[in-house]
Amino acid sequence: MFPQGVIAYLKLFLTHAALAPAINQMGGREAADSAPCFSMRCAVPETIPPTERTRVVRESHRGAYDRQTVDKILDEAYVCHVGFSVDGQPYVIPTLYARVGDAIYFHGSAASRMLRNVSDGISVCVTVTLTDGFVLARSVFNHSMNYRSVVALGKATRVDAPEKKLEALRAFTEKILSGRWNDARQPNEKELKATSILCLPLTEVSAKIRVGPPEDDAPDYALPVWAGVIPLSLTPGAPIRDEKCDPTIPTPAYAAHYQR
Ligand SMILES: Cc1cc2nc3c(=O)[nH]c(=O)nc-3n(C[C@H](O)[C@H](O)[C@H](O)COP(=O)(O)OP(=O)(O)OC[C@H]3O[C@@H](n4cnc5c(N)ncnc54)[C@H](O)[C@@H]3O)c2cc1C
Repeated sequence: MFPQGVIAYLKLFLTHAALAPAINQMGGREAADSAPCFSMRCAVPETIPPTERTRVVRESHRGAYDRQTVDKILDEAYVCHVGFSVDGQPYVIPTLYARVGDAIYFHGSAASRMLRNVSDGISVCVTVTLTDGFVLARSVFNHSMNYRSVVALGKATRVDAPEKKLEALRAFTEKILSGRWNDARQPNEKELKATSILCLPLTEVSAKIRVGPPEDDAPDYALPVWAGVIPLSLTPGAPIRDEKCDPTIPTPAYAAHYQR
């Protein structure tokens, strides 16, 4: 018979395999197809084979390398952390981003340290995390989190063409609030110049997903300790009108009924 560890591994693998299509069914290709597409779109295969750098080592059965899983996570989250090294000093900077086709675009002020240093193209590690629940095991050691995360490696380069910059800014805006781009004043030439956009092609990328209940050591299941999952989700509150906003302007539906 299989040892306990192998059974646990198989159970997890099957859980992930069974859940992955459900997790992915709403996003992925659909989102990719509806997202504004840049002409420089590169052909990335449906599954990006892991490299020595992107192969998930610990709990490797939680790793996924198919674009549908990766895209679904990237499209649901909106903050990424961009890691890069300058003169031996690592920096990890949180910022907004959007996936457009086969690349991630992220932006910031041209004056920021990050963009000053990466404008010529720099090796980056972009990480995106969605936290889905606290996992309370019977033992402290086996406490965990349910999460979906993506790590993308590669060389980020600056997007210079104004029309491409506009497309990226539109993607950032529409990703969070569909319809906002047309309602708000769009960037003028000066604002566009002051904004730097970076592009990271999704060529070396991994996802990692933990789902399901706690996994305790066999003897611990007999302990009289509550165990289970506390689900976590991001809940928007009611919109708060800016004091300087003309009260006759109706609250747009995307703000009044914002849902995630
Ligand atoms: C909210 C949250 C909480 C976590 N808590 C813990 C914890 O308490 N203890 C713990 O050991 N781990 C935790 N993890 C997992 C952690 O991110 C790493 O996966 C783990 O520490 C090291 O895995 P590794 O040996 O495969 O990574 P490494 O050898 O460091 O990485 C190898 C490659 O695997 C891929 N990879 C590794 N981790 C991830 C990931 N999370 N998502 C996508 N790709 C990945 C990357 O491509 C990376 O380059 C947590 C993750 C999240 C999102």
